[in-house]
Amino acid sequence: MNTKPASTDNDNNHWPAKRRVTVVGALWNLLLSVGKIAAGIVGQSQALVVDGVHSFSDLISDAVVLIAARWSSIDPDHNHPYGHGRIETLATAVVGLLLVGVALAFVWDAITRLLNPERLLRPGWLALAAAVASVVIKEGLYHYTRAVALRTNSRLIAANAWHHRSDAFSSLVVIVGIVGVISGLAWFDALAAIVVAGMVGWMGGQFVLQAMAELVDTGVPVREQKELGGIIQSVDGVRSYRNLRTRRMAGRIVMDVCVLLDPQIPLAEADRVAASVRRRLLDESTEVTDVVVSIAPHCDSGTSARS
Ligand SMILES: [Zn+2]
Repeated sequence: MNTKPASTDNDNNHWPAKRRVTVVGALWNLLLSVGKIAAGIVGQSQALVVDGVHSFSDLISDAVVLIAARWSSIDPDHNHPYGHGRIETLATAVVGLLLVGVALAFVWDAITRLLNPERLLRPGWLALAAAVASVVIKEGLYHYTRAVALRTNSRLIAANAWHHRSDAFSSLVVIVGIVGVISGLAWFDALAAIVVAGMVGWMGGQFVLQAMAELVDTGVPVREQKELGGIIQSVDGVRSYRNLRTRRMAGRIVMDVCVLLDPQIPLAEADRVAASVRRRLLDESTEVTDVVVSIAPHCDSGTSARS
C-alpha cells in the first residue's frame, strides 16, 4: 500500500530562491573561470590556470545540480517506477572522476616544471590582480549564498556557501604562490598549483565516494534512523515497528518500514494508521521523499507474523 512517491517535497518550497542563488553562483563561476584561465595564461601563473579550471568545474557541477534537480523531480514513469533520482547520482560520479583526472594532470605538469626549473612560469601583477579579485568575489558569494541558505533552511545551499568560501581560500593559495615568485622564490607558483590541484582532486574524490555510497545502497547513520523511528512511534495506533530500511537517492532518503499494530483493529483502521505514518515521515523529515509502509499484527510474545 501507499507506494505512490511523494510529489509534495518540502525541499521544493523554496525552489525559485534556491534556483536563483545557484544560477547567480554559476554565472560568477563562468566569469571567474574565463577570467582566471585567460589571466593565468597571459600573466604566466600555472596556479591561476588551475584555479580557473577549478571554477570551470564548479560551473559544471552547478549545471549538474540544476539539470539533475529538474530530472530528479520528474515523476516516476513505467520505465523508472522509483523515479529518476539516480541520474543525479550517476552525473555526480562522472563529474567527480573528471575532476580527479584533471587534478592529476595538473599535479603532473607542476612536478615536471619543478624538475625542469627553466620551464617554471613567472607570474606578475596581472595574475596577482586576478587572484585578488577572485578572493573578493568568492567571499562576497559566500555571504550572499549563506543568507539564502538561512532563509530557505537548506543544507544544500549552505554547502554551496561553504564551497564559495573554500574557493576563496583556493585563490588565496594562488596569491601566496604569485607573491612568492615576485619576491624571488621561482618555484612557489608551481607549488601553489599542486596545492590547488590537490583541492580539486579532493573535491572530485568526495563526489565519487558519495555517489558510490548511494549506488551500493548505504543506509543513513544510526542517529538518523532513530530520529525516523521516533517519528513512526509518535503516530497514534503504532505499537512498534521493525525492518526500518533506508537508502539515499539523489541525496534524499527513501525508506520502508513495517509498523506493528493492535491485532484486533479492523483492516480499514490499520490502513489509515499506515497512511498517517507515511504522511508524518514525509512532513516531519526534510530529507525523506518516499516511504513504503507495510503492516503486521503486534504480538506481545514478540513472535508477530512476517510482513
Ligand atoms: Zn570550487
